[in-house]
Amino acid sequence: MSIDLNRIESRLRERLCPVCVRCTMKHTCSLPPDRSCALFEQLPLIVDIVRKTREATIDPYVQAVRGQICSVCRFEDVDGACSMREDIDCALNTYLPIIIDEIEQELDRVRHERGAAHG
Ligand code: SF4
Ligand code: SF4
Repeated sequence: MSIDLNRIESRLRERLCPVCVRCTMKHTCSLPPDRSCALFEQLPLIVDIVRKTREATIDPYVQAVRGQICSVCRFEDVDGACSMREDIDCALNTYLPIIIDEIEQELDRVRHERGAAHG
């Protein structure tokens, strides 16, 4: 059994988008056309970060996201600051604990199924 990215994405869209600051009254996303959601744009890399990190505290995940995603994001400046982050307008940064939890649930499911397959 492999990690099901589509399932993770649909669960995150179900769980996060309705509570996101960018969710409109019509349940659409208010991000402008020239701005994609960092969470869904970078989902495969985020899953990889969660899979490799596996720590009990949030800090190592934050560091990995900053190092691998924010560092190449057009919104982060040369000093490592990000106005989207400061304005609580990046779903990836704002909802990182929920995102990790959702991905961990999928990883646990895969581990469980692999364990069952090997008896
Ligand atoms: S910014 Fe991302 S998480 Fe927020 S509503 Fe839009 S697509 Fe969903
Ligand atoms: S916190 Fe800023 S730099 Fe990091 S992904 Fe979000 S918008 Fe990009």
